[in-house]
Order: sequence, then C-alpha cells, then structure tokens
Amino acid sequence: MARRHETQPLPTAALAVSSAAPAHLPAVRPVPDRPAVRYGPDPADVLPAQRGGDGRRGANAAAVLRTVLDHGPVARTTIARLSGLSPAAVSRQYLDLARLGLVHERPGAATGGAVGRPQVPVDIHTCGPLVGGVHLGVPFSTLCLVDLRGRTVAHEYLDGPGAGGRRSAGTLGALRERLPGFLAERAAGRPVLGVGAITGGWVDPSRGTVVRHTPLGWVDVPLRAELEGACGLPVLVDNHARAIAQSEILFGRPQARRSVVHLFVGSVVDAALGIAGVVHQGPRSAAGDVAHLPVADADAPCPCGRNGCLQAAASDEALGARAVAQGVLDRPDAFRLVELAAAGDEAADRLVRGRIRLVARAAALLLDVLNPDLVLVTEVSVLRHGHYLAALREEVLRHSRVCDDPERVAVSHAGERALQTAAGAAVLAPLYRDPLLFASRAGAVR
Ligand SMILES: [Zn+2]
Repeated sequence: MARRHETQPLPTAALAVSSAAPAHLPAVRPVPDRPAVRYGPDPADVLPAQRGGDGRRGANAAAVLRTVLDHGPVARTTIARLSGLSPAAVSRQYLDLARLGLVHERPGAATGGAVGRPQVPVDIHTCGPLVGGVHLGVPFSTLCLVDLRGRTVAHEYLDGPGAGGRRSAGTLGALRERLPGFLAERAAGRPVLGVGAITGGWVDPSRGTVVRHTPLGWVDVPLRAELEGACGLPVLVDNHARAIAQSEILFGRPQARRSVVHLFVGSVVDAALGIAGVVHQGPRSAAGDVAHLPVADADAPCPCGRNGCLQAAASDEALGARAVAQGVLDRPDAFRLVELAAAGDEAADRLVRGRIRLVARAAALLLDVLNPDLVLVTEVSVLRHGHYLAALREEVLRHSRVCDDPERVAVSHAGERALQTAAGAAVLAPLYRDPLLFASRAGAVR
C-alpha cells in the first residue's frame, strides 16, 4: 500500500481546496493509513455502535441534508417543519453540513412568505465538492465528475477492449493511468470526495470486487483496490444496473423511492430492484443476474451452453452481429445501428424494434412478478429516441398482465447521462444516508 502511494502520482489539483470552500473541507486527502473503507450500500451497515454514540446526530444530519436535496433552496423553518426537527437542531445540523461543504446559503434565492425576519434559504452546495465516477464498459469506458446533485460536470471516454475480453487488463491499466490526471485537471481545484466505479455483471460492493464480468473475461478483479491505489481517494464499486436504480431513488422520480425495477441492456444484461428506497443486494451482492433468462422465439447460442438466453439474444453485441449478418452494417456496432434506424433506414429500424420486443418481454415479466411503481429500462435506442421508448411502452403493456399505464415504464431521469449520475451515486448514496459518518470515514472530521 505504502509503495503504491510512493509510486503513483497523486491528483494534486483534485486535492487542493477551492477558495470558495471552507479551508478545512475534507475528504480529498488520500489518507494512506486509514482503515479499510466499507461504505456498505445497505443502511444495516450503519450501526449506531459504529458511530460512537453519535447515531442521533448522524440521523438528524441526514434528515436535514435529504430535505435540502428534495426541497432546496429552502428556508430553515421549512426544513424544521418537513424533517420534524426543532429549529435549533436544524441550525446545528446546518453548521455541521456547511462545515463539510455539503450545503450553503443562497441569499439570491429568497423563498419569501415568511413572517418576521426574512430567511436566507439553504441549498445543496453544487458548486462545492465533486464526486468522481467511472463506468467500465466493453466498447468504451467513461470517466466523469458529478456535483452533489449527481449532475455531470465533466466527462471523458476511454476506448474499451471490445467484446473479446483479451485486453481487459489493458482497460483497467488505461483507467488507472488516466483517472488521477482526469480528476486533477477537470475538478479544477474543487475537492473530490471519492470515486464511484460501476460496471456490469456480478459486482460485490462490500469486497470491492468484480466477481464475474463475462464479456470482459473478468473473475474476482479487485477493482476498488486497483482504483484506490491509482487515485488515492476512497473508491466504492457497484453493479451499474443497481447504481442507476440508486440514482433514480436519490435524484429522480419520487415513485422510485416506493419501488423501482431497472433493466439494463447493453453489452451485458442486468436488472436491479429497489424497495422503500433501498436497492436490494442479497447474499454476496449477486442480485440482478437476468442474463440467462430464457427468451421465447430466440435461439442464439449462449456461452453458458444453452440457447435463447436474454443476454445472448438482446445484448449490443448480438444486435450488432445480426446487423452484420443481414448486411445492414459492415462491422457490429449497436450504437451506429440505432442512429441509422432513427435516420430512417428500414432494415436497421426492423432490427432495433426486434430487440425492443425482446427487452419488453423481459421488462413485462419483471413488472408482473414485482409490480413496482416504476420500471426503468436502459437501452440505447429507448434512451436516445422518444419513438423507440413509445414502442417499448406499447410492447410492455401488451405483455404485462398487471400494468396498463405506459408512464410506469421510463428511462432514467438523467437520460443519456444515466451511467455518469449512477457512478456518482455509488458515492453519493452513502453520503446522503449518513453525511457525518461518511465524512469521518473519509478522514474528514473527528
Ligand atoms: Zn445463457
């Protein structure tokens, strides 16, 4: 560990504290001696005993921060009314959170209507600390920085290994090499609280490993340790389908907090389930593997040995291969096919709609089994083009036996930035769950 910190250059600009932020703003220090960081994705991870008796203080801080997230800019009296805390408690929590750089006053955004002394509303400090994000994809990976509302501030793409898996070490090597420089250059002096790293397949956040990513050929890759060694910041990893569900719960449609199912269809096919604001992980965080769900009328051979698995039939690679086989493209590229289809190419459009039908059947099955308030689908054609989203909704409703409301089927609130917001959410979710605990674990306070 120590040797890595000596040999890896630290992101110096990302470590600097901006002049706009309090001088003791935390979390950007690499803290080489800190104990193993475990920001578990489950509230059960946050036990009062771990807080050293500060459980109530942490819960109150979270209540204030979440109220500001949902209603900011908002007056302190309104925060007190919405959170059920006393005005004095709100003021104390505000000071704690402002000291960490998470909230600030916005004098220009007066809420008005208050009797007596006018109040300066408070809001999430979106021009303050940032969170880094990494999405490891097959055709390309994405680096990003998001603000405390999960909105992209900067992003950059890195070429991926393709679907062969042979250059997977190259992907991770390229990420390790570029991540510190990206954070330093693009954060431009703003503090970076940590980095969320997401990818498809089986990802175990508590161990920080990618247990299995078939298209990349990864088995038990210690992604968290690799990236922490490279950038010197806390890194949290998660599956990308769960992270998109989490980002919708945090920043998206209110109904996602009641229940949400998310189906991700790209180079891998994954699902995620969130109930009452918690994304389900299950034993060893294996929840969400729908890659081998049998699909009717599909006979594509799957690496698992069977035919007609959802991932083998509906992945970007399968779609690209079909386009090449039918002479629509000269090389497999699902993204290019979708743009060709959207521009009016009839053969491309047939292929895109064929995949939408497969996706819709899987989404309808999940919808009927789990009956969530919201079904999110992440697939390139429905993400980019409204008429393909409309086609998906129509197909889902045709197959579902419980849903007759097309609005229950949607894409992420973040649209084409869904994966960037999701990568940030891997860090922002534990931050909003318990900001004081998060800050202390990041070496920021106490
Ligand atoms: Zn299979």
